[in-house]
Amino acid sequence: KHPHHHHHMSLKDKEHVILKSLSNVSMSEWSYYYTSGPHLGGANYSQAVWTRDRFTENGIPSHIVEYDVYLNYPLSHNLSLSYPNGSVFNATLKEDVLKEDETSGLENRIPTFHGYSFTGNATAEYVYVGRGRLTDFQRLADLGVPLAGKIALLKYGVSFRGLKVKNAQDFGMIGAIIYSDPGDDGKMRVEEGYAPYPKGPARNPSSVQRGSVQFLSKYPGDPTTPGYPSKPGVPREDKSGVTPHIPSLPISFREAKPLLEALNGKGVSAKDVNITGWEGGLANVSYSTGPAPNAVLYMDNVMNDTITPIWNIIGIINGTIEDEVIVIGNHRDSWTAGGAGDPNSGSAILIELARAFGKLVKHGWKPKRTIVFASWDAEEYGLVGSTEWFEEFSTWAVPNMVAYLNVDIGVSGPNWAIAAVPELHDIILEVMKKVPSPKNKHKTIYHDWAARNQHIDVLGSGSDYTAFVHSGIASIDMGFTFSNEDPVYHYHSNYDSFHWMSTYGDPTFSHHVAAGQFLGLLALNLVEQPLLPLNAATYAESLWEYYKILKDNVEKSDIDLDLGPLHHSLLGFARVAKKLTRLSHHIKGRHAHWKRRAINNRLKSFEKGFVSQGGLPGREFYRHLIYAPGLDTGYAAVTFPGISEAIWLGDKATAKEFVYKTSRAVWHATAILALGRCEEYEGEQ
Ligand code: GLU
Ligand code: CA
Ligand code: ZN
Ligand code: ZN
Repeated sequence: KHPHHHHHMSLKDKEHVILKSLSNVSMSEWSYYYTSGPHLGGANYSQAVWTRDRFTENGIPSHIVEYDVYLNYPLSHNLSLSYPNGSVFNATLKEDVLKEDETSGLENRIPTFHGYSFTGNATAEYVYVGRGRLTDFQRLADLGVPLAGKIALLKYGVSFRGLKVKNAQDFGMIGAIIYSDPGDDGKMRVEEGYAPYPKGPARNPSSVQRGSVQFLSKYPGDPTTPGYPSKPGVPREDKSGVTPHIPSLPISFREAKPLLEALNGKGVSAKDVNITGWEGGLANVSYSTGPAPNAVLYMDNVMNDTITPIWNIIGIINGTIEDEVIVIGNHRDSWTAGGAGDPNSGSAILIELARAFGKLVKHGWKPKRTIVFASWDAEEYGLVGSTEWFEEFSTWAVPNMVAYLNVDIGVSGPNWAIAAVPELHDIILEVMKKVPSPKNKHKTIYHDWAARNQHIDVLGSGSDYTAFVHSGIASIDMGFTFSNEDPVYHYHSNYDSFHWMSTYGDPTFSHHVAAGQFLGLLALNLVEQPLLPLNAATYAESLWEYYKILKDNVEKSDIDLDLGPLHHSLLGFARVAKKLTRLSHHIKGRHAHWKRRAINNRLKSFEKGFVSQGGLPGREFYRHLIYAPGLDTGYAAVTFPGISEAIWLGDKATAKEFVYKTSRAVWHATAILALGRCEEYEGEQ
């Protein structure tokens, strides 16, 4: 074929190549590859090499970037309940082997355990603490339920599991057991007539959610190297501020049931606790707090704590503009042998995109901006691969990166969902209108999404975009997710497997294709549009929405707080952002190239203005003053976090300090956006 073919290709033509290149057959092939055996963080070298080789064979030069990080792996664990009458229930702590689901029965399958959990044991009466949020513990303490010296029995959901363990530890409890309650499973439950997996879409009663219990509200990444990369031989710091000091175990609802039943009628009743969502969906369980006198749990958890290599794969397509780069990232490591949804639906998409962009590269294409493909390791333990890489390369990444595009769970159901920074909203919506719907080929994913009345979420934490966001880099996270009307997604369980995906999750792999098409078109537009498709005026609109929420919260609180300085700065930002957007639509004349360059520089940089020096109170790592993961949610975002969380904590001095700091940050972002008079009319030379 013509080596110079690409010169005649418009952006539209290239979009067409990307749209047509992605195949559901290859998607299922990559999915099958990644999900056919264990690939825990730091224990997936063959998959790292395979990923590098797929990038390279598609014309994308790639290499392994290794770090030596603290991780731990399960050795043994036990859990038993001694009833007051002396009889004993021994939990198996195992998920059932299903003959239909190949990887559920592997010899070397991964035990049920918590990443970064504490090695230790505990023998004590136990208390049910609901979701284990701060408010739950405080409420029980107020009601006089004994907590210190007891073991916590907690329900998954709403907040990050590590924070549940942290709260238990902070209230003097000596162990934590976290289970998956079927009450959180939406409509497709056994009680509604649905068979459990593998016969039907309901939750398999033996399924267990593994997962990290790092206290990620402080900082993500290797717990022993906060702020610097874990290269071999670096000094290591005390990890005890971010990992638990009490043992914890995840269990199934089948094994939680006897534990909960033994608390029926003991301690405070669910009605008297009176917290929304306190009760779950198990029959014959009253969700009383306990403790039940002389009902005693014994638990032990033994982990192998180690410093061990992890492997990020970095592939690069060099662009012509040297200081503008996008990174497309997905983690590769999984808690189970499968991981068909988390994360390897995203991994299949990444490989398929490398193949699609590889086609353009083979036609001689050189993008305007550089594209980096990143396959991260050890995300599951605490965003380790991405955070260490960012810590190593931040002096290059911060000034040069235009955007970070993350796909973790690319598919766990049929509903398209996005979380992104506001300046990406416009291009996101535009691209969604170009991706055919997997449900109806005459429609687009935009139609389906809009019909469900969706909105673009705010980025909190829980995946690899975190380090990027908190250095002010425009980021997005995306995927097709499940709602309460869809087959139950067995998150971090053996049943997040190829068999589940090809039976219930995405049997035709058409959602994998659509997610890939979206990500591919978004990347293409970000690297090829002459004017960066980042809209500062849309950022200003979102700031007003966040401001309204903040103002309401202030009014509802007893803190009397003057938001005037913040309001004033938001007016300034909105004015300058609107002006820049207007000017950017009228670039012409002799110096058009330089004018565009001046505007692009501002568009890629202004979000860095929102990044503070010292970070949020007590959490230096989280420096973005417009959004952050909630202190007690871990996943869900809080907007104007410095101010909002101080109000939540009833701390007026800090709230005031952060009104000041946040408004300074907004002025800083405004200053970055503002074009000088000379540049406006003459272009930058
Ligand atoms: N995505 C993983 C989880 O939710 C890791 C999150 C984290 O450690 O930040 O368990
Ligand atoms: Ca580090
Ligand atoms: Zn993941
Ligand atoms: Zn995960």
